[in-house]
Amino acid sequence: MEQGRIAALGMNTERVEGDRDLGSVALLPGLVNAHTHLELSYLRSQIPAADAFVTWIRGVMSARRQRPDPNSSEILDGIRAGIDEAVRSGTALVGDISNTLATHAPLHESPLAAVLFYELIRFNAPDPVAFVDQACQQIDGLPASASVRPSLAAHAPYSVAPLVFRAIRDAVDRRPFVPCSVHLSESREEVEFIATGEGAWRRFLEEVGSWSPDWVAPGVSPVRFLDDAGFLDKRVLAVHGVQMTREDLERLAAKGTTVVACPRSNAFTGAGAPPISSFYAAGVAVAVGTDSLASTPDLNVFSELAAMRRLAPHVPAARLIESATLTGARALGFDAEYGTLEPGKRARILAVRVPDAVSDVEEYLLSGIEPDQLFWVGDSPESVSL
Ligand SMILES: [Zn+2]
Repeated sequence: MEQGRIAALGMNTERVEGDRDLGSVALLPGLVNAHTHLELSYLRSQIPAADAFVTWIRGVMSARRQRPDPNSSEILDGIRAGIDEAVRSGTALVGDISNTLATHAPLHESPLAAVLFYELIRFNAPDPVAFVDQACQQIDGLPASASVRPSLAAHAPYSVAPLVFRAIRDAVDRRPFVPCSVHLSESREEVEFIATGEGAWRRFLEEVGSWSPDWVAPGVSPVRFLDDAGFLDKRVLAVHGVQMTREDLERLAAKGTTVVACPRSNAFTGAGAPPISSFYAAGVAVAVGTDSLASTPDLNVFSELAAMRRLAPHVPAARLIESATLTGARALGFDAEYGTLEPGKRARILAVRVPDAVSDVEEYLLSGIEPDQLFWVGDSPESVSL
């Protein structure tokens, strides 16, 4: 390693001054958490598990209403604790969703690289272009950071008006490559609402005063709806995909859109179990996200991989690991620096201790690796010197 970058890679046959013996470890690039909401970290263990997604959303909304100041010390302390936990769990890069941009400064000061997605929610928008322009001004006003790249995200098809989707895509397309994100095909209620305009989401929108009487139900699947609207391509991270059909997945594969699997969150929110094996069988790019501490017990991507392994016992281990490294880095536009161990990339190298009895190292990495089983090698302040 030289100046924080990988200089060369290979077998050392001779020991030279300064070499360190790391013991029996697997070396891998720092992991990529392609979908989380660090600003919700203060809600750890605060929201009850739900058997219906709308019930979980109600819990989050009422909890957030009690903390209207996004820069309160409780929220900022939660963000910093969440970042620490992510780093200790082996994460180098995150796709962080924020409604307030409160995570920008803590991320900038941290060892994590990030795409900071400023997430927009607006179902009833009289002037969609002005709404999105204003959001662009806010992210353009953030202090410059080499490690934190801002972009926009649309919350979901049931909470963002079609013209707002259009304006977000136009705004993202005007920027040098940055990805865009959307929660897509997460719950049965979403599928019902986009197909018929009825059900629990319709009632919820009416209840919170966000229903738009001009809105016409697309009458198709959420994936088809966003594709017909011109929203989906290789810039987009489609998060969750629990309800995606084979046709949906083939459509995403053809568009180059990345699906981000967050199975532990899906179980907690009542959305169900994502069809992980079908994601891979369809040839779609699959990344991994923990989602937020409002719906998952920790920010450990290794724990998420273990959940994916339980749901997809026959997908080769190497493909799951690739999802948590290279595919995530590529989806976030950071693959020139992260995602693999290659000369020139950042030396964010993770070492996972491997017990002597382990014969299949890749499978072992899917067994639920905890922070005390790993350490950073290289340029990070958390490096353990041996
Ligand atoms: Zn999310």
